[in-house]
Amino acid sequence: MERPTLVSSQAKKHEKPDAEDDTAVYMNFMKSHCCYDAIPTSSKLVIFDTSLQVKKAFFALVANGLRAAPLWDSKLQRFVGMLTITDFINILHRYYKSPMVQIYELESHKIETWRDIYLEYADRFLISISPGASLFDAIHSLLKYKIHRLPVIDPQSGNVLHILTHKRILKFLHIFGGKVPKPRFTQRQIQELGIGTFRNIATVQQTATVYDALSVFVERRVSALPVVDEGGKVVALYSRFDVINLAAQKMYNNLNMTMHEAIQRRSCFVEGVITCYPEETLETVIDRIVQAKVHRLVLVDRADVVKGIISLSDLLQAMVLTPAGIDALLS
Ligand code: ADP
Ligand code: ADP
Ligand code: AMP
Repeated sequence: MERPTLVSSQAKKHEKPDAEDDTAVYMNFMKSHCCYDAIPTSSKLVIFDTSLQVKKAFFALVANGLRAAPLWDSKLQRFVGMLTITDFINILHRYYKSPMVQIYELESHKIETWRDIYLEYADRFLISISPGASLFDAIHSLLKYKIHRLPVIDPQSGNVLHILTHKRILKFLHIFGGKVPKPRFTQRQIQELGIGTFRNIATVQQTATVYDALSVFVERRVSALPVVDEGGKVVALYSRFDVINLAAQKMYNNLNMTMHEAIQRRSCFVEGVITCYPEETLETVIDRIVQAKVHRLVLVDRADVVKGIISLSDLLQAMVLTPAGIDALLS
């Protein structure tokens, strides 16, 4: 993976001693605002007891239009983890056999049963943050642990106040960062800054099956797949979020359908594919991704052939963590 190459403050000073160093503007902004600042005044939060059946939990996410929920263990009397669409993908991928065979485990497993199996060798602790911690620390946790949902927990009451995401944090910067001067690097081209992933992009053919796509999600741990034709041209975008449509439409028993069909059947989606070109500036990319309310842009050439992915993780890494000398996306 290629990593962002923002000019470090030291190198920059050396290059032009009299120029004001502005590479740390976004890092300082995130360090000087806390998680509480980025929490909306009201939002919906659903919590699942780990004794709930997994199928009921995923239906409840769909019914409430949510992407994730904190898990409460009533025996331990504490939050023990999160349930996200990635977990739904992992369950489907592990237990699916054919359209003729019902996924017994989805029908019968409780969340705790699934966690006992799935988390046997993995870390099993909840990654959370306190409302008084800085947004810089929140970004660091999201990227270091490679998660997309960070619950903000009040240390006094133990209550979950909100679930922070990359999207929420970048939106906060977009709205309130206007008070700080825009760093000069935002005027530079994406290809010049090297922000994003440009090699070994995980894609899926439109003729492939949904099960094939789930396999790529599981093996590559990517958050979305550009759907391509035989020539490598992007024709659609299939993200982890889109997989929840299978639950919404009770289609999780037919993972043999093609991606083309799955895309046609989506009930809630973004029109077209939100893309960018290598020669567009960082400022343009930020404006587009915030406006479209998506987690990534697909980097394409003029023939719409996929050349890379610029995700919110890449942007936050480059704008906030790189100036602090941290590379959380490495490894
Ligand atoms: P998605 O992109 O589907 O919302 P994530 O990337 O956040 O999912 O989740 C990846 C895995 O990490 C899932 O198994 C999920 O349950 C787990 N997970 C997500 N957030 C947290 C967290 N804050 N603490 C512990 N585990 C988490
Ligand atoms: P989340 O809010 O869970 O991070 P995503 O941004 O991954 O969700 O996806 C939300 C919706 O936006 C999905 O239907 C997905 O297919 C769509 N989407 C995400 N990125 C793009 C893109 N670059 N172009 C077109 N649609 C996109
Ligand atoms: P995300 O999971 O989208 O927050 O991104 C984490 C990292 O994975 C970022 O460096 C992305 O550029 C990269 N990434 C996301 N989707 C893909 C993909 N389909 N192929 C290759 N890399 C990806």
